[in-house]
Amino acid sequence: MWFRCLQILIAAAVLGALAGCSDSRRAERPPWRAKAEAVCLAKGLVSESASIRPFHEMSGPGICGAEHPFKVTALDGGSVALNATQTLDCPMIAALDAWVRDVVQPAAQARFGERVVRIDSMGSYNCRGINNMSGAGLSEHSFANAIDVGGFTLASGRTLNIMRGFNGADEQERAFLHEAHAGACGHFTTVLGPGYNIFHYNHFHLDLALHGATSRGPQRYCKPVPQANLPEPPVRDAMPDPPAVEEEMDIARTPLPEPALRSGPATLLAELPADAPGLSARRPRAPALAPTRSVPDMTAARAEPLRAPRPIASEPAEPPLISFGAASEDGAPRPPRATAPARSAGAPKDWDVTSSIGR
Ligand SMILES: [Zn+2]
Repeated sequence: MWFRCLQILIAAAVLGALAGCSDSRRAERPPWRAKAEAVCLAKGLVSESASIRPFHEMSGPGICGAEHPFKVTALDGGSVALNATQTLDCPMIAALDAWVRDVVQPAAQARFGERVVRIDSMGSYNCRGINNMSGAGLSEHSFANAIDVGGFTLASGRTLNIMRGFNGADEQERAFLHEAHAGACGHFTTVLGPGYNIFHYNHFHLDLALHGATSRGPQRYCKPVPQANLPEPPVRDAMPDPPAVEEEMDIARTPLPEPALRSGPATLLAELPADAPGLSARRPRAPALAPTRSVPDMTAARAEPLRAPRPIASEPAEPPLISFGAASEDGAPRPPRATAPARSAGAPKDWDVTSSIGR
């Protein structure tokens, strides 16, 4: 009998020890995480720099943390800033650098002809459950092994926002964001974006969780499923983009800068005394600028029919007054002439006021 009791006690002790061992093992961080960090560091995939600073080991609460985290302010050799300092492990920094270099920048160049200079992150290290839900398994954010990306900023300052643009009306912006999302699926093992669930309506979640292996490599989750048949990038050549204003030939409607206004013929007229000799007979034929109230009444000039002078054989045709002090065809302001063009004797006096004002 006593032997039977002893057997039961020993069996209970062994089971208790196994249970305790099991509990303590559950409380440990899975060893593959530290191994992934060590391999990344040994390969030299991440180097300390002004934008990547080593941080102390983070341990807890619970199994949260990382052994060799970094504080990161920029990616890809410092060329792409982060909007805020992020805490990431070595594998995530290496994957982000590769994604930026191989996917984001080529897509931005093709779609917009310029580089991405900033990535807006919505968070990285955070000891919490998946989707911030209590009772759920721990998120990869709990191990500095994930980042949430909310958008991009191009060199020109244009912003590409995931919430606004992923399903937005601008087809190039939409295509860029879909390319960035789909391309991330080749660099991270978990990629979630708008359309996957309500928690990812405004960002990409990127992480390097270990989901298992397949014959083609690590198991990956890429949601929503990348779209096919994205719009083609615009055709680009080596020439700079044309100016925004296309109606450069309609110079009569081109607003003039202030210096030209001050030196234009209408202003010159306004500065003359009303009884200046010859003023009534020498008015601009067709003022380039809208006459102001200070310009004398034009009735007298209209009384005489304005006739274009017959061109003098030895003299080139007079350029139209509209170009005087006005914008040139290339849109640049043309400086006013210091002196009026010389006219030969006998030219009509009633068609070119500049012939007297300039002298
Ligand atoms: Zn996330």
